[in-house]
Amino acid sequence: MKYEAVIGLEVHAQLQTNTKIFCGCGTAFGEEANTRTCQVCIGMPGVLPVLNRKAVEYTVKTGLATHGTISPSSRFARKNYFYPDLPKGYQISQYELPLCQKGYVEIVVDGAVKRIGITRIHLEEDAGKNLHHAEGGASLVDLNRAGTPLMEIVSEPDIRTPDEASEYLKKLRSILRYIEVSDADMEKGNFRCDANVSLRPAGAKEFGTRAEVKNVNSFKFVVKALEYEIKRQAQILDEGGTVAQETRLFDSTKGVTFSMRSKEEAHDYRYFPEPDLVPVVISPEAIESIRKTIPELPDARRERFVKEYGLPEYDADMLTQTRAMAGYFEEAAKLSGRPKVISNWMMGELMRLLNADNRELEDCPLRPDRLAGMVKMISDGAISTKIAKTVFEEMYKTGKDAETVVKDQGLVQVSDTGAIEKIIDEVIKANAGQAAEYKAGKEKLFGFFVGQVMKASKGKANPDVVNQLLKKKLSE
Ligand code: ADP
Ligand code: MG
Ligand code: ZN
Repeated sequence: MKYEAVIGLEVHAQLQTNTKIFCGCGTAFGEEANTRTCQVCIGMPGVLPVLNRKAVEYTVKTGLATHGTISPSSRFARKNYFYPDLPKGYQISQYELPLCQKGYVEIVVDGAVKRIGITRIHLEEDAGKNLHHAEGGASLVDLNRAGTPLMEIVSEPDIRTPDEASEYLKKLRSILRYIEVSDADMEKGNFRCDANVSLRPAGAKEFGTRAEVKNVNSFKFVVKALEYEIKRQAQILDEGGTVAQETRLFDSTKGVTFSMRSKEEAHDYRYFPEPDLVPVVISPEAIESIRKTIPELPDARRERFVKEYGLPEYDADMLTQTRAMAGYFEEAAKLSGRPKVISNWMMGELMRLLNADNRELEDCPLRPDRLAGMVKMISDGAISTKIAKTVFEEMYKTGKDAETVVKDQGLVQVSDTGAIEKIIDEVIKANAGQAAEYKAGKEKLFGFFVGQVMKASKGKANPDVVNQLLKKKLSE
């Protein structure tokens, strides 16, 4: 390609505080319209905002978790614009002095670590929601969401491909969830992304003119919207045209972006310091005490899983996507002493069943100690890997432990040589022709005999014992 894409993302993450940012209204989602409101969040004149301490703590925590610098003193600002979902006529946001600046997150690109800079993280209030096409063709406004705390995370234009954008978003989401400041669920709208993209001739230093695609609501759509934008802008440049600086929207059914409005400039918002709120002053001690609440983060945990449990990079990466998954793995790995086997079961059967049921690991009846117990039974030879699959599914359904399932369903592995020998004798007798061929040199038939014996034992015969005895019997 003769152009290089330059991408910068603005993420809005809803903070998981119990109450709104400047009043005591609840933040619960899905309540009846306009029942989670008060004078402050519907913008009555004469009332004053009071800053939610938790919202500040969560933002600082995010800043620290992304290697940023926390401003000892930061300010709120009024961003003025008119829209029906914004009752005050301005949004309280931060402008010149955000809570946090100059951080980064790391992603892996073609096997190498790449840093994506974070320009700033600031705190602001969300707007309400307009509901169009109501009865009689009216538009209605629901202000339950107005005043919900949002954290805006602005990346540097360090991203070069749609895939990098997706990796960056996934890493960011994972960090926000690890530190428990946001659900960061794109589908639920509490993790929203504006994607800025421009093109420049490959090798050029200067950035081109960017288009901003607003409010793309899934990882897949971010990739699609960026791919479309890159193609669209390349075509304009190829034809000798210039890209307009504008705000666009993504139509997910058609897979295209379209112009919404020409891009507003900062001065259009007439920003000025919020006179109703004092500056936010955070002491170094307060910052340190917030730092102490940050758990081991996904990158560090992934590296430790490789070192401590000898997991392949791929497994370690998958298992550290969420804190719940990583915790589950560690517990089962420690109890069983077989980390790689645990990893295989988790990434195979467990993920398959969870996906099929659309279920979170937290709601899974099969607990890590039970998985460890089952893996022990396999290594002790009490059940075969094949039987274990059945046991696993039953444990997943009922939450019972492996021994109980094995006993209830009579699944114990048969290692008793006498019993297996008897089956082998019968199988050889019933397949005398094949046995003769095998003896005459057709060694491929060995697998056939193993299969027949396993089938006759209903999968319960210990495969190692079957192999040993079969070799002996077939050469007699
Ligand atoms: P605005 O609110 O006007 O969009 P911000 O500074 O909040 O401005 O966000 C700008 C975003 O656009 C950042 O993520 C930045 O990295 C990105 N960006 C800036 N210039 C370019 C460019 N030429 N091409 C692509 N992205 C850009
Ligand atoms: Mg923007
Ligand atoms: Zn309120």
